[in-house]
Amino acid sequence: MRICFATNNIHKLNEVQHLLGEAFQLVSLQEIGCDDELPEEQETLEGNSFQKAEYVFQEYNTPCFADDSGLEVDALNGAPGVYSARYAGLHRNHEDNMDLLLKNLTGAINRNAQFRAVITFVAPGHTRQFEGVIRGTIHYEKKGTEGFGYDPVFLPDGYSKTFAEMSLEEKNKFSHRAIAIKKFVEFLKTAKLY
Ligand code: IMP
Repeated sequence: MRICFATNNIHKLNEVQHLLGEAFQLVSLQEIGCDDELPEEQETLEGNSFQKAEYVFQEYNTPCFADDSGLEVDALNGAPGVYSARYAGLHRNHEDNMDLLLKNLTGAINRNAQFRAVITFVAPGHTRQFEGVIRGTIHYEKKGTEGFGYDPVFLPDGYSKTFAEMSLEEKNKFSHRAIAIKKFVEFLKTAKLY
């Protein structure tokens, strides 16, 4: 079965293809001829990942899944959440986003947070969502150079290093995205979609 992953990030695509095995052929947006800017106008991760997957399914008539993810900080009532990429402004700069986050947490005793990812799969007769959550704390300063986004300030529970101090391989073993993807892969392997 051919399924579109609503991404043009070939690394993400290869990673999921590897987990899925050969029964499913993943294709990127580019491969189905889609270079549209996908709509992402909702106020939740669930809403945005659904909107992207549904758009591709309707416009390109291809079973599709999309992901959306963000950092949710307890002391900030779940912010930046769905606005994680543009927390410090529409220029979407990771350094500025982290600086603003650290500033907004000045003096905060509770630094608990989580990364959360939501995957939505849309196919004829099926709409399903899968969630992955990884809890941790926001460190007082940036540490490490790997990864992207808020990785340098996120210390996953049970570890003494930030996501940015881990190799991609190590992070991908237990990240929020990996958890959601594993649930989705289990679903695909057992659901009767043929
Ligand atoms: P997206 O869902 O991959 O587009 O992620 C949205 C935003 O959430 C990113 O731009 C980052 O700011 C943040 N984010 C999501 N996942 C991660 C992660 O694994 N590490 C660091 N930041 C992340």
